[in-house]
This record gives sequence, structure tokens and C-alpha cells, in this order.
Amino acid sequence: MVFSENARIGGTLVWYHSICRRQVWLMSRSVAPDKDNDALALGRLIDQNTFAREKHQVAFGDNKFDFVSGKDGALIVSEVKKSSRAEKASALQLAHYLYELKKEGIDARGVLHFPTEKRKEDVILTDSLIAELEAVYADIGANASQQTPPAATQSKYCLKCAYAEYCWS
Ligand code: SF4
Repeated sequence: MVFSENARIGGTLVWYHSICRRQVWLMSRSVAPDKDNDALALGRLIDQNTFAREKHQVAFGDNKFDFVSGKDGALIVSEVKKSSRAEKASALQLAHYLYELKKEGIDARGVLHFPTEKRKEDVILTDSLIAELEAVYADIGANASQQTPPAATQSKYCLKCAYAEYCWS
């Protein structure tokens, strides 16, 4: 899959853009990650066991929210993460969901949940977050249209990345 100009960008891709542009390019070309990767396995486990009673996934366009709940008349979109290691990326992903809703005339606020740390953070869609998202969308499109991926750059995320073998062996 190479993104066309009009392709809708999902929240997961926004998250990966903050982690590694090379990873986004690989995903755009449908290069399959290593399914036995420990981080992916932990993510699946948390996905299955956390918030079992209150959680329900909601599909909205090309996005899938972890759960949506209403409190005092306000719509709250939540995103569950296995750690706050990439908190900025997670906040942008959630802001992307809020922005997608806003484009449909729905005002919502977000909450990031880090169950293994017993912590949560509010995410409010501000004008500066919207500007940041617009820049991310443009860069994702420009990156995906390149014939070759950005060079692999060693970072703290490589250690648990499902593409590590592809990049570094
Ligand atoms: S291993 Fe590192 S450079 Fe390669 S895709 Fe993953 S994060 Fe990016």
C-alpha cells in the first residue's frame, strides 16, 4: 500500500510517525513486522486483559478507539498504552482521533491510560496540536511517496521494534 494523496491516515500511523519515519515507510509498503516480537505480544496481552468490563472498541473512519465513554454529557475517547515510554507519540495519536471527530462536528476530550503504571493523562485538542497534526499528515504522505525508506537510525525504540531484525541484521 502506498498512500495516495487522498488516503485517510489512521491513528496508529500517526503514532509510528513520532517513533520512526523509516517504520512508517515500511508499513506503507506492507513490509510485515516480526509477529513474535515481545513488545507486540505484551500489547496484545494488555489489550485482552485491561478494562475488560468497560472497554469496547469503536471504529470511526479509518480509526479504532480503545473505548469511548460519556461523562457529564462529554464524549471521552480513551487510548490504552502498555507504557508511557512514547507518551508524546501516544498523545498525538489520541489528538488525531479527537481531530477526526471534530471534523465531523463532534467535540470530545481524550484520556491516555497507562495501566501498568496506574496512571492516566488528559489530552485536549488545542490549535497547536492541530497544527502539529497537519504537519505530521503532510510528512507521512511525503515519506511514503519516496522510492526508498529513510535510513535506519539507532534509537531507544529499536530495541523493541518489530522491524529490528529487518533494519539491523
Ligand atoms: S528498528 Fe529502529 S530504525 Fe528500524 S524501523 Fe524500528 S525503530 Fe526504525
